[in-house]
Amino acid sequence: MLNIPLFVWLLVVAALVIGILAGHHGWGRRWPRRLGRFHADYLVGLDYLISEQPDRALDSFLKLMDTDTETLETHFALGSLYRRRGEVERAIRVHRNLLARGLSAEHREQALFALAQDYLRAGLLDRAEGLFQQVSDGARLRGRALEALCGIYERQRDWAQALEVSRRLAAIGITPPRALAAHYQCELASHHLDRGDAQEARRLLRAARRECAPFPRAAVLRAQIAEREGQPALAYRLLLWALQEAPILMHDELAHLLRLAGDDGRDACLESLVRRAGARDFGELKGIVFAALAISLADAPPLREAMEMVIAREPTLRAVSQAVAGAPFAQIAAQIGALLARAEVYRCGDCGFSARRFYWQCPGCRSWDGFETHVIVKLR
Ligand SMILES: [Zn+2]
Repeated sequence: MLNIPLFVWLLVVAALVIGILAGHHGWGRRWPRRLGRFHADYLVGLDYLISEQPDRALDSFLKLMDTDTETLETHFALGSLYRRRGEVERAIRVHRNLLARGLSAEHREQALFALAQDYLRAGLLDRAEGLFQQVSDGARLRGRALEALCGIYERQRDWAQALEVSRRLAAIGITPPRALAAHYQCELASHHLDRGDAQEARRLLRAARRECAPFPRAAVLRAQIAEREGQPALAYRLLLWALQEAPILMHDELAHLLRLAGDDGRDACLESLVRRAGARDFGELKGIVFAALAISLADAPPLREAMEMVIAREPTLRAVSQAVAGAPFAQIAAQIGALLARAEVYRCGDCGFSARRFYWQCPGCRSWDGFETHVIVKLR
């Protein structure tokens, strides 16, 4: 019976036939010999396919194409098809077989790039890295190889190398987003901060700000340094600025900001946040209210009016509030706060990955700055 994999295989066979026939077009003198050999190997390969022995079928096809330099593109198509199907070992065999032949410089580069992609797909990052480096020395596929290298260094959290590759990309006119280099510098700064080297962390954060401004992430880290160095007032100003520039951080950082404000400064801080958000955007105001409820901060007077407004306008919260109708406000707020504390409040706009905390780089699809606020309150 013609199941789907076999159908795909037959398509490959068809591609090979077309490739080989096209490759020989105009070589009438060689037709009889080639066609004869092609027939034999084709039939052997087909026999293996029908008996569901794809590796032996591949052997047969690789042998068939061994000396046919005209069928290179078919070879590349076959390798790419294997990789897309997740049959990476077979893709690697195809591309290695290509590289074992005497290829032109251009085709050799293409085969190295394809093999590097196979290794990447197989999770063999070191091997992929070596080949992408090799390809990036040439001109034709340099940009794509450097982009792939950037991705590998990000996965390995090798931010220094990622930064260097982003510079090489910029040097050949493929300009990565300006924020990318700044993020790499913040990652490096964070690493140095963890090791206790605040001086190097500060230098890197200054570089990040030169790269991209305003850059709230650098301010958040700079606030951490100020706090560690016993400068809470400076830390407060930096964090407040970061939250005003990037209200999305509110859920993660509000408790920290209020700690820096101190008991005496708490209400003034909340009042200024609410006033500013109210004048700018309801979503921002909602973010403050949600963040405050999640840290059991329902009793702060500056928040009361904003909380009632948000609960009235949010269908889920309104439902919760109606379910406990008649109860004191503090009890309603506590109930909603408990739901919010275990809710996933962030989601990646690119891939849909959702999380309880904020990520500058999505753990799902590795895109940068793609997280947005998206409260999913689970009622159970
Ligand atoms: Zn994502």
